[in-house]
Amino acid sequence: MTTADYLSKRYPTTCPHCGKEIYATRNLGMLAGWFDTGLGTCPSCDMSCELEYDREKDILTAIDGERSKKINSLKTDRIKNNEIN
Ligand SMILES: [Zn+2]
Repeated sequence: MTTADYLSKRYPTTCPHCGKEIYATRNLGMLAGWFDTGLGTCPSCDMSCELEYDREKDILTAIDGERSKKINSLKTDRIKNNEIN
């Protein structure tokens, strides 16, 4: 398998925020084996999710983790501030 094949492989998973099926790809950090998690944005609800790669099962799972929660709360704060202004 070439690097391009590896990166373009799409994994079906479910958005932890809206429950829609989304397709995730691994990023370069995962490819290099530095870490097994990444960050993605759901195209349906535009919320951030963390992606966890399971090497044994070769699956990617979208979860709402510490980093994505932080990003989503910043997004929500911005929306709130815009409403006030
Ligand atoms: Zn979503």
